[in-house]
Amino acid sequence: MKLKDFRWSTGLFLILSPLGAVAVIGYYTYYDAFRWETLALAVFMMFATGMGITAGYHRLFSHKSYEAAAPIRWLLTFFGAGALEKSVIEWSHDHRNHHRYVDTDTDPYSINKGFFHAHIGWLFVKRGTNGRAQVDINQVKDLWADPFIRFQHNYYTAFGLFVCFLFPGLVALAWGDFWGGVLIAGLVRVVVVHHGTFCINSVCHSIGRQPYSKSHTARDSWISAIFTFGEGYHNYHHEFPADYRNGIRAWQYDPTKWMIWTLSKVGLAGKLIRIPDEKILESKLEMKSMDLAAESRGALEESREGFLKAAREMKEVRKAYLKASKEKEAETSSLRKSLKRSRKALLQAYREQKTMIRDLGKSRSSAVSAA
Ligand SMILES: [Zn+2]
Ligand SMILES: [Zn+2]
Repeated sequence: MKLKDFRWSTGLFLILSPLGAVAVIGYYTYYDAFRWETLALAVFMMFATGMGITAGYHRLFSHKSYEAAAPIRWLLTFFGAGALEKSVIEWSHDHRNHHRYVDTDTDPYSINKGFFHAHIGWLFVKRGTNGRAQVDINQVKDLWADPFIRFQHNYYTAFGLFVCFLFPGLVALAWGDFWGGVLIAGLVRVVVVHHGTFCINSVCHSIGRQPYSKSHTARDSWISAIFTFGEGYHNYHHEFPADYRNGIRAWQYDPTKWMIWTLSKVGLAGKLIRIPDEKILESKLEMKSMDLAAESRGALEESREGFLKAAREMKEVRKAYLKASKEKEAETSSLRKSLKRSRKALLQAYREQKTMIRDLGKSRSSAVSAA
């Protein structure tokens, strides 16, 4: 990168803010100046701005994986700004390109340019240089139509700095700790949120499993889910970006998914997109059988009918259930039961296929070692 392409304000902030955060923590520890109210505010701000990015910038605005009531859109736009990761417009523009061109030169934070580039290095480069595209409003036309998002974009510097620093300072004024609010709930918190969410582009494309696809570098890891507000199931996300969930199993840590689900239960969110189970299981089976020899794949194909039949049935029952629940028909509850039954049958068929794939793989490797 040439020096003239360096994005000075962003670059210096990203370099100096972690140093500042360490100094603040050192000072507050030495003088024993921490206030528990301010620490609680810092935790609140961490989740509010972090989820402003994951539930707002990412799953709502970039991917439209659900719809949210206007006050929720405003709150996500407001708090998301306080993560200091640029405007909804700029962020979504880059993220849509990340999905469209993943791992290529056009991917703004391609992991193939190195871990450092994907994590933070790409942000040091001015737009319009070194392959970093200017924001093309055509790619985010849908978002540009929202006046509050447009306002946030047009006044981003003042908007972002206000939410990041001044807002927690003013809140902490309630217990007489303005500077604690600015420094702990502002500066220290934003550094944590920065590197947590930056990990989605670096760690989540480097460490973990690839149960759904190997056609891209994205990976699933519960460890990265912990510090990315649930975005650690990134292999799933790249395979099914329309889904409002990243961790699809009930026990998988995905606070963003839980928040969206809760909002939907109180009528503040709707049209949550879930990729059907049969589609997800099918791609898992596809991945598992990828390394099998051609003749084993043939044998597997013949036995697949059971799984496909269960998948078809699941689809039919779901369709009937959704129709009935929309029309508030009496048979909704009995259909819900059949849905549960079909799901059980589908999982059973999936497990049988999984066992078969494992056995075919074993017989193949023993044949290879016998030869
Ligand atoms: Zn990614
Ligand atoms: Zn995404």
